[in-house]
Amino acid sequence: MNGIYIHIPFCNSKCPYCDFYSYRCKEDERRRYVDALIDEIKTLRRVGEFAPKTFEADTLYLGGGTPSVMSGEDICRIVEEAKLKFNMPPTSEITIECNPNSHIEDLIPYFKKCGINRVSLGMQSAVDTERRALGRQSDKKRIAEVIKLLKDNGIDNISLDIMLGIPSQTKESLKETLDFVINCNVKHVSAYILKIEDGTFFDTHRERYLFPDENETCDLYSLCAEALENADFTHYEISNFAIEGYESRHNTKYWELENYLGIGAAAHSFVDGKRFYFESDTEGFINGNKVIFDGNGGDCDEYIMLKLRLKKGLDIGELKKIYGEAPAEKITKKAPLFKEQGLVNFDGNHLSLTKKGFLLSNSIIAELI
Ligand code: SF4
Repeated sequence: MNGIYIHIPFCNSKCPYCDFYSYRCKEDERRRYVDALIDEIKTLRRVGEFAPKTFEADTLYLGGGTPSVMSGEDICRIVEEAKLKFNMPPTSEITIECNPNSHIEDLIPYFKKCGINRVSLGMQSAVDTERRALGRQSDKKRIAEVIKLLKDNGIDNISLDIMLGIPSQTKESLKETLDFVINCNVKHVSAYILKIEDGTFFDTHRERYLFPDENETCDLYSLCAEALENADFTHYEISNFAIEGYESRHNTKYWELENYLGIGAAAHSFVDGKRFYFESDTEGFINGNKVIFDGNGGDCDEYIMLKLRLKKGLDIGELKKIYGEAPAEKITKKAPLFKEQGLVNFDGNHLSLTKKGFLLSNSIIAELI
């Protein structure tokens, strides 16, 4: 089944590492943006150029930006409209990204009303000094309070984002974050390595910070993977860990090259092999900007690259069926070399990255394809 992504490009402040399309907006703009989202969901006027008018889905993801800066009424309007339009079954996974600093207390009744059943919290670290370095305002106590609030209200499918490579982060401080995560009994963790993007505050003020170097960051990643696996999380994707049965159904569609429709400024779609997106321009979206065709997606290289992000890896027989003999032969020839170095598991028909391989995934995948 398909997935739907709705982008909310608003945040109350800008984090020093962020290069996403997000900014603080005015109330009037927010209202007009929600109206434009609802209109596009109802009519599929623009995405309909590439997607069928009847598009059924079983996952909905409200991402950003910070969707939790919106009012409960607006969130409900968007979700209700999407559920109706995309004929979403009651078992659908409906996720919203939230900042723990947001007015979650006020939003929870609306989450329950419209059926939001998964919350992804941008925690980043349980160490308050690290959170402050990342421009995050809420403290560890607040994060624990939000998790308890969600659980007390029946939303126990909670994902925490944590970051590796934060300025001044050490193995000891990461252990503090991991202990916190594990003690909170959440179902899912996304652990991202901090990348300093051009033009961000971290990029232009590098000298002010003590960033862990590449080796130290690798150690942090290994520590993270080991601690979470010891706590019964499965490392099901390079950056993602879940208690069995709580893998992100929506994000899995991206890695499995399934269809997803993105609505809103800066939202990307992949439908029936075609990629298209809305420009990063809220006013443009409100004023009816069309989607931009971004070429055909889902070619063989992309298929291999995405499959190898997953713990379950790549089935060579399947690859052969879809893309023919040549790529399968190439992989079969190259894989034993990586196996010798302990970077991949390979039995002749199945290829997956080892833990060590996950750390070097970009170069291994580049070599293989
Ligand atoms: S909350 Fe997320 S989207 Fe908003 S500025 Fe921070 S990193 Fe960027």
